[in-house]
Amino acid sequence: MTKYCCEDMELYAERDVDDDRGKYVDYDLAERFFSIYAAGSNRYGIHIPYCPFCGSKLPELLVDERWDTILTELGPDYLPDDDNNPPKKELPEEFKTDEWWKKRGL
Ligand SMILES: [Zn+2]
Repeated sequence: MTKYCCEDMELYAERDVDDDRGKYVDYDLAERFFSIYAAGSNRYGIHIPYCPFCGSKLPELLVDERWDTILTELGPDYLPDDDNNPPKKELPEEFKTDEWWKKRGL
């Protein structure tokens, strides 16, 4: 499977947030999280289960699975604490990309 379902999704998801033409959708590789930006905001996205351009069903997001995997395999020092303070330890690179979920067959 390619990273994107269609050329339009690729075009808009890869666009930089500071692009004057506007950024409407985003793809977070590490959490497999496709989102669309609310009007007036190019910083906060709302999860979308289907592509707004071609209608394809997008892959399941992995927000909870990523956190559970980090907690189970590495421990709580790699996640923000209950007060949302930064983690005590630096996350391994695989958890910053799609490497972690591809390695686990998700
Ligand atoms: Zn699409």
